Amino acid sequence: MRPDKEVKKWFKGVASAHPDSHYATAVLKREGFVRKRCACGTFFWTVVLSQESCGDPSCSGGFRLFENNPAKRRLSYAQVWQRFAEMFERRGYRVMPRYPVVARWNPTMDYTIASIAAFQPHVVNGEADAPAKRLVIPQFCLRFGDVDNVGITGSHMTGFIMIGQHMFVPPEEWDQNQAFQDLYDWFTQGLGLPKEELTLHEDAWAGGGNYGPCMEFFSRGVELGNQVYMIYEQGPDGDRELKLKVLDMGMGMERNAWFSQGRGTAYDATFPLVIGRILERVGITPNAELQKRFLPKASYLNIDEIDDIGAAWARVAGEIGVGVAELRDAIEPMQAVYSVAEHARSLLFALTDGGLPSNVGGGYNLRAIYRRAQGFIDRHGWRLDMGEVARWHAEELRDLFPELLVGIEGTMRILAVERQKALENAKRAAAIIESEIRKLEASKEKMALNRLIGLYDSDGIHPETVAEAARAKGIAVEVPDNFFALVSERHEHAEQRTATRRSVRFPVDDCPKTDLLYFRSYDLVEFESPVVKVIDEKHVVLERTAFYPTSGGQEHDVGAMTGPGGVGNRVVDVIKQGGVVIHVLEEDADFGVGDIVKGVVDWERRRQLAQHHTATHIINGAARKVLGNHVWQAGAAKTVEKGRIDITHYATLSDDDIHRIEDEANRIVLSDVRLSHGLVPKKEAEEAHGFRLYQGGAVPGREIRVVDIPGFDVEACGGTHLNRTGEAGMIRILRSSKIQDGIVRIEFVAGKQAERLVAQRKAAVAELAALLGCAEREIPTACEALFAEWKAARKGTLGEFSRPALRESGGDVIAEAAAVLQTQDVASTVRRFQADIAKARG
Ligand SMILES: [Zn+2]
Ligand SMILES: [Zn+2]
Repeated sequence: MRPDKEVKKWFKGVASAHPDSHYATAVLKREGFVRKRCACGTFFWTVVLSQESCGDPSCSGGFRLFENNPAKRRLSYAQVWQRFAEMFERRGYRVMPRYPVVARWNPTMDYTIASIAAFQPHVVNGEADAPAKRLVIPQFCLRFGDVDNVGITGSHMTGFIMIGQHMFVPPEEWDQNQAFQDLYDWFTQGLGLPKEELTLHEDAWAGGGNYGPCMEFFSRGVELGNQVYMIYEQGPDGDRELKLKVLDMGMGMERNAWFSQGRGTAYDATFPLVIGRILERVGITPNAELQKRFLPKASYLNIDEIDDIGAAWARVAGEIGVGVAELRDAIEPMQAVYSVAEHARSLLFALTDGGLPSNVGGGYNLRAIYRRAQGFIDRHGWRLDMGEVARWHAEELRDLFPELLVGIEGTMRILAVERQKALENAKRAAAIIESEIRKLEASKEKMALNRLIGLYDSDGIHPETVAEAARAKGIAVEVPDNFFALVSERHEHAEQRTATRRSVRFPVDDCPKTDLLYFRSYDLVEFESPVVKVIDEKHVVLERTAFYPTSGGQEHDVGAMTGPGGVGNRVVDVIKQGGVVIHVLEEDADFGVGDIVKGVVDWERRRQLAQHHTATHIINGAARKVLGNHVWQAGAAKTVEKGRIDITHYATLSDDDIHRIEDEANRIVLSDVRLSHGLVPKKEAEEAHGFRLYQGGAVPGREIRVVDIPGFDVEACGGTHLNRTGEAGMIRILRSSKIQDGIVRIEFVAGKQAERLVAQRKAAVAELAALLGCAEREIPTACEALFAEWKAARKGTLGEFSRPALRESGGDVIAEAAAVLQTQDVASTVRRFQADIAKARG
């Protein structure tokens, strides 16, 4: 495959050589546009016959939207979307709600970065149906590449809404002229731009093996929208037309609002209410006159394009004719206000949609913007709370996205915890860094990369913070460009489980997909089937099977397989490859292709696995109910011994949290709810349940299996599940631990394993009570007394020892006793102490 960049360049030439067959030139000509070529080589369309430049900022001298604003409509931020949606709905587009900004359905990205990302990869690659053939969507997106410029240049953002105009149609329904006309009408009628103010560029787009022409809309040097026509795909034997043609038009809502209002910064145009409240709270009155002169020059402060920030300020001050100090004093607090407001908005969306700040992966970006914003607040000594600013945004956005206000309590709680963590971290980090630097000074060695990763990973210390502190002492610490990639690589290695990774590939590509009986009911454990293939005597493929293969974090079944000869053979492993299930036998098969075999799944094991799997979903739902809506599954495993679920949560679980989760889980077990687990078209499932479905990550395919515990938890899942929650018997949480920043592990048992655990505990309590000669509830204080007596025996002061009175405990007597004696094995420690005391007493 040729690289995208090369394809784009090549195809731009091809398309512009035959404009009529690649662009909506019929519409442009009808509207009176003429085609011209800019000195930069780009072909463009304009109605202004004297226009020589394409209008790209680099060809025509920057943004010019502040003088004599051309837009005839003054639209507020919300109005941009409301007007756009009304107009497109009338033209037959379906108006979609935004997708979450945490992109759980998309395995290639942490956050939704464009409107089309909502439909990638499964809709765009044809694996799933689009929600509608023609649609528009106000998609909130996150991109962190320009974070250092946010607040400074007046236009950069980490979070923005990309308004998408999309089509997903077969070639015979493709109408590029209409798609173009619809967008053209938005700019001329919706935004009210005279056509003299519009310039259109011919361009091309390429990505992921697909490509096509695109048309960019410019006005006054500002790119207002880009309409991409994904039409072709690269192939090994030449290129061809896609079976599904995709329209991908993305347009910045903030830019449209800003352009329409024609003054202030993009932040003032987007969230005026929040800016107003912050200014009032911190007591700043902006110097409006100076700001107005400064704004057109703000882009000179673009961090990416300057080496010396002081010189850049001097240049701006010089051009507008004020002193540098005066300018910075007036402007810098405003930049801080804008940054705080912008970052609070991104955090509001991300946390509402289930993101959590952490040291890992996408969570790191959230922590970084939180700390940048809080840094501004601290530096200026403002009495301003990030959670409160987030709430103001939720209020300002109430009409567009009411869900932000619904979830605001949880969002504010997470931000408050983040504040606490930042304070603690700053204290601890300073001490750790100091000692690291002392070590470097003493050893004269370089900081090892591994150590740098360790500091970041376990202590949450950013490598740049270490490098900065070291630099102050004249020591160079190198931070590789791919530092965060190295960190996540490390986590991937830790996460790899042999159970779900197989390197052996079986030759089963010629086999039909196995009919999966285990989806029908978990108690269907006996079946018959013709043999499809036998590989190396021990690997058997059947037409249908009830044997569950290791997948989705659930262990495989075992059991027996019997051929016409009547000799049973043990099934010791089950593997799925593509849609084909392969049974691994203990002995060579005594049957062949075409024979009918009988399969029997080991019921005890199957039931226990199903109990642990359904219990995993129950614990997930219970944790969400007890801890909050930010809880998502981050990993899970189900074996016969126990179940395990990792959830996203910002703190370690207290004993009280654990008890409440366990109680909630058992409440669902006792209410004996009927589960449903059928195959549902992905589109319908998403519409009915939203993205909560994807607890275990993205699920490919047009149809997905939806495991629904009505009113409690619903997940896309391919495991074996109970028919009713009551069949789990009972659920007991064994322990919980923090396994990574922002992720907590809960281990638990259900069914027989839980009964066994309860019986064992009962026996252990009875044994201890007998051993100590006390009531069961008195065990902890009896242990305290024993410990005191043992110490007296060692000191030889048994004569003065008098046994204290025992009290009853209301808690977990074994755990309390273990804490008193500081041991996991309470009974043998008690025996040892008693023997020592007996010896001392003679
Ligand atoms: Zn140009
Ligand atoms: Zn599951």
